[in-house]
Amino acid sequence: MSEEKRSAKTLPVVDFLKIPADGTPYLEGHKCKQCGAVFLGVRSTCSKCSARGSMDAVRLSNRGTLYVYSIVHRSFPGIDVPYVSAVVDLEGGGTVKGNLIDVEPTPAKIRLGMPVEVVYKDALGRKDKEGNSYLSYFFRPAS
Ligand SMILES: [Zn+2]
Repeated sequence: MSEEKRSAKTLPVVDFLKIPADGTPYLEGHKCKQCGAVFLGVRSTCSKCSARGSMDAVRLSNRGTLYVYSIVHRSFPGIDVPYVSAVVDLEGGGTVKGNLIDVEPTPAKIRLGMPVEVVYKDALGRKDKEGNSYLSYFFRPAS
């Protein structure tokens, strides 16, 4: 039991969520040196200008605006509904899909273009067989 605890880690739910040793998690994108386009995740060729081998890893902003959303009423067993699935344009580039939390899931409370921030939280409190927990990212309304 104690051995399990010692080796248990917090793992990211997606590979573009980075958890550095010093703590503060962030989302990682890749920025094209030729045209400045920013994409999520690793790629070797720019989808915008087709430049090859010119992508640099960049730390994405934790602030952005709501581009589009959908209120989800049906999901997999064990997933609480309704929840808000959102696509957010991050400041400085990068477009990310995730869940919008801390808001009533009704169109009256959600506005396209509203400012949001990225927050990092445990993913549903679940652990795998090795006792590892998972860190996820969410959006919430920002002022
Ligand atoms: Zn490019």
